[in-house]
Amino acid sequence: MLLSGERTMAIYCPACEQLHYHQFSLFQLSSSPRAFHCTCGFTQAHITKHNRRYEVSLLTPAGDRVRLLFPFREFWSAPLLTFYSPDEGEILGYFGEAEYVKEAAADFDSDLLEPDDFFAPEIMTEILAYLQKLAAAQKIGCTCSDPAVGIDVYPDKVELVCSNCGSAILMSAVSEDDIARLYSLSELKMKPASYTYLGEWLKPIR
Ligand SMILES: [Zn+2]
Ligand SMILES: [Zn+2]
Repeated sequence: MLLSGERTMAIYCPACEQLHYHQFSLFQLSSSPRAFHCTCGFTQAHITKHNRRYEVSLLTPAGDRVRLLFPFREFWSAPLLTFYSPDEGEILGYFGEAEYVKEAAADFDSDLLEPDDFFAPEIMTEILAYLQKLAAAQKIGCTCSDPAVGIDVYPDKVELVCSNCGSAILMSAVSEDDIARLYSLSELKMKPASYTYLGEWLKPIR
């Protein structure tokens, strides 16, 4: 009998604050770290196969890097593994067989922001879609030495934050004006340790 190496992983993305699913085969893992990217463009995790263990490297919601080690046998045989942050015991994600992961993730998801929580769901959807487009084209960033820009989504606004230098851009997400203001910008590049409210920008930044 052939062992199935197909696994599902659902991990929390600190950038877009959603659980994101990944499907892959354990046979694709090797001693060179495999990166897992969220649909928002953020690199959520790496998995590396060591001699007798697998190392999962991922980020807490606060942006701290966490390394978790799992014995080879456990990684291959457990139907469901939960990734916890070592300090806070926060759930960072799930790994295992698809049905178990989906079940566990459904419980987790109910605690996250739902579209119903948004003040203006259609406006928010457009704003997030545009930000994802910019992110995918590498048009969101910070000019500091080691930029690490994430997206915080609130019911009525979105904040881009660089966790390296603390700079941020805040934009309201409730009206057509907010969309128009954002659409007039083809790039969102922050200055180190700066704070900008998007309404104050009269013309597109370059
Ligand atoms: Zn994401
Ligand atoms: Zn920065």
